Amino acid sequence: MSATAPHFDNSYQQLPERFYASVAPAIPEAPVLLALNEPLAGALGLDLQWLRGEEGLAMLSGRELPDGAASIAMAYAGHQFGGWAPQLGDGRAILIGEIIGNDGVRRDLQLKGAGRTPFSRGGDGLAWLGPVLREYVVSEAMAALGVPTTRALAAVSTGGQVIRETILPGAVLTRVATSHIRVGTFQYFTARRDLDGLKALADHVIARHYPQAVEADEPYLALLEAVIQAQVALISHWQSIGFIHGVMNTDNMTLSGETIDYGPCAFMDDYHPATVFSSIDQGGRYAYANQPVIGQWNLAVLASALLPLFGEDEEKAVADAQALIDSVPGRFDAAILSHFRRKIGLTDDFTEGDDALIADLLSRMAANMVDFTNFFRALGRLPDEGGEQTDAPTRDLFVDPTAFDQWAEGWRRRLARQTIPQGDRQAKMDSVNPAFIPRNHRIEEMIAAALEGDLKPVQDLMAVLSKPFDDQPDHANYASPPSEQERVTATFCGT
Ligand code: AMP
Ligand code: MG
Ligand code: MG
Repeated sequence: MSATAPHFDNSYQQLPERFYASVAPAIPEAPVLLALNEPLAGALGLDLQWLRGEEGLAMLSGRELPDGAASIAMAYAGHQFGGWAPQLGDGRAILIGEIIGNDGVRRDLQLKGAGRTPFSRGGDGLAWLGPVLREYVVSEAMAALGVPTTRALAAVSTGGQVIRETILPGAVLTRVATSHIRVGTFQYFTARRDLDGLKALADHVIARHYPQAVEADEPYLALLEAVIQAQVALISHWQSIGFIHGVMNTDNMTLSGETIDYGPCAFMDDYHPATVFSSIDQGGRYAYANQPVIGQWNLAVLASALLPLFGEDEEKAVADAQALIDSVPGRFDAAILSHFRRKIGLTDDFTEGDDALIADLLSRMAANMVDFTNFFRALGRLPDEGGEQTDAPTRDLFVDPTAFDQWAEGWRRRLARQTIPQGDRQAKMDSVNPAFIPRNHRIEEMIAAALEGDLKPVQDLMAVLSKPFDDQPDHANYASPPSEQERVTATFCGT
């Protein structure tokens, strides 16, 4: 059988021309395939033989796109760190088209780092190897953790140079998303008072992501509520695994509810609510504990952008939108509580005091510099009845182990009110508390090796992180927190 090129079915390109700019990717000097995500390619119905061949590399590097490709840069605006940026857009990404996967779902294929576009402003439109591999590994780890996210289909080195603080090797990531439409895409049209554009975009998003909204009395309000639900679910999931996005600007929040933009993101090692990694986030705007607050802020921006679609009666439109936005904190509290109840093994109905039990645990963890991931994983192994010896794997993670002992007394009293057998409770905890996350020092180590031409750490990390809830005793070292020397304190947006 001969290899088959992807079959594109491009819907965004059917929208009015002012939604995007047509642009060809830069021609790479000497592209080499670094990583191809075979399971993802299979699920998307793509032909592996074709992807691995000459034409596949040509597409994944941007050298030559197959027939039917779109090749456009999407226009959008956004609030960056709270400040309004009226014109952003795909400055270093080119949408090469949409495909329908084996699951019937439409997805974008996008080349990130494929050269300048009309939206590049001062930038070079390029990406270097480090951020491309970081996004490849972290976004796939997120998918394996069950978090909605953009995916990584391939990473290619271009053979060209990228100038940052030093000269670095260029690379292109093929990003896959159910769409790349952002809160900032809506802001773009509303800010221009382009109501036809705004309506066309909203109708496109409803048809693509939330078709049930069409049946609602007020479809555009139903759209807002659906996005609120998706984003609350997403960000609560981040909170439950210690993921810090790092750059929650409105242009980095999708309408689909998928995590997007793995620039300065990082997972926490030690738990602390004020944790920030991004070197440019001086004020801690996007710190761990702030993520739900910022989520609400961004959703309020979306509500304002959609306002012109909420009907003639302006007073009612504002009141309806406000009521939805006001519901966000309560939705976050419920979703986060539900995640953390499962993390500590509560499988019955909510009982008065469960929230206080969790809050008390987290404040003790913060005061004792406890590794977030390893603590919950170890907690799941503890028996219903414990003591200093059996509890060693958890209590020893605390600077002052008695801080755990005091908490554990109340925890065990609470467990005793459930009827679930110990083994089942432990298995349930293992299914929500991962053993493996993409730890920053491992990512940095992987990038350093790749710069030396060694891709084995990429493959090893991918293999471990593809099964984050399995024990994998042979790979226990990947679960270890960083040593003092390995600790990564800052991440950079240097993509
Ligand atoms: P980000 O901070 O990654 O969300 O990017 C914000 C905006 O800057 C987007 O419009 C990007 O397309 C643009 N951008 C970031 N890096 C570059 C680059 N190297 N070249 C051109 N545009 C860029
Ligand atoms: Mg971005
Ligand atoms: Mg970025």
